[in-house]
Amino acid sequence: MSPKRAISPDAARWLTARFGEGARFSEPLALHTSLSVGGPADALVTAQDAAALSDLITGCAMRNLPLAFLGGGTNLLVPDEGFPGVVARLGKGFSGIRIQRTPAGALLDAGAAAPLPRAVARAQEKGWAGMLFAVGIPGTVGGAVAGNAGTREGWVSDAIADFDCVGPGGETRRLGREEVRWSYRSLSPMGGEPGWKVITRARFFLAPGDPEALKEQAGRMLAQRRQSQPLSQKSAGCFFKNPEKGPAAGALIERAGMKGQTLGGAMVSDIHANFIVNRGNASGSDILGLIARVRDRVEKEFGIQLESEVKILGA
Ligand SMILES: Cc1cc2nc3c(=O)[nH]c(=O)nc-3n(C[C@H](O)[C@H](O)[C@H](O)COP(=O)(O)OP(=O)(O)OC[C@H]3O[C@@H](n4cnc5c(N)ncnc54)[C@H](O)[C@@H]3O)c2cc1C
Repeated sequence: MSPKRAISPDAARWLTARFGEGARFSEPLALHTSLSVGGPADALVTAQDAAALSDLITGCAMRNLPLAFLGGGTNLLVPDEGFPGVVARLGKGFSGIRIQRTPAGALLDAGAAAPLPRAVARAQEKGWAGMLFAVGIPGTVGGAVAGNAGTREGWVSDAIADFDCVGPGGETRRLGREEVRWSYRSLSPMGGEPGWKVITRARFFLAPGDPEALKEQAGRMLAQRRQSQPLSQKSAGCFFKNPEKGPAAGALIERAGMKGQTLGGAMVSDIHANFIVNRGNASGSDILGLIARVRDRVEKEFGIQLESEVKILGA
């Protein structure tokens, strides 16, 4: 049975009239995520500039259309039912990167649609330190801010100065790093603050550095990743958050005997047990079923409930 779709013919006409070729209907989201699983969005709409984005947010709210945001799709699991509503992504107007000098050093100012690896490379090439924390993280700048992405070298919350966002009424605001609550792979509005729908730009602190030394350090970090992560397979990165105390999620999964386990086309990576990989033909249900088994086994063995780091679209 095909799932109930949310877009009426009227809403479809509005999307086509306002966004033209930027609106695609019944678009398979598996094509837009690194896990490559899951069903279609009723509509996938690319907003090329701030006015289009504001219209999309307010227009969907007026028509009661569910609206979700997609960056690079590298931290997202799409269920087989897809998404009954509009999935929005940011277009070229949100992908610029520039470095602005300040009395204390510089700021890397990047549009939310800019690939994070490109932002990291730009700072490094120009001899600015400050973005090494993000070496090897795929996806977009906006996705990284939305998930407070990070590595052992630091998190977005350590490096960010402020970000621009569009709120539920379509209005743009700039929020300083102190004006939001940052936590492990998430951020949330302070009490009383209306929050945001989408992040459109972010600025990160930079300090003078030596381009050659930065390049060397980035190279070491990437080599380490290539050794310890299944980078040639389809995944969404580490699937579970590490518990606050004790062994990391990957170690718990391995000790629970789940490394290498499969369900349909999904597999617990035999290189890094916190990666769930698509062996080529996985469905969203295979991945969801396997993560349920992993959670179950870890809870039975250690009494620890693993929490998903990967976002499940529509959940
Ligand atoms: C091989 C591999 C290695 C990885 N290594 C790391 C790592 O070391 N550290 C780490 O933190 N992550 C890692 N990840 C996970 C992922 O790359 C990051 O979380 C990344 O920052 C997600 O960005 P994205 O643009 O792909 O977001 P998406 O996957 O598209 O979206 C993730 C979530 O953010 C929301 N979102 C996206 N863009 C915006 C926006 N502009 N405004 C508001 N919300 C938005 C989406 O709605 C969704 O809920 C890895 C992933 C892979 C595949």
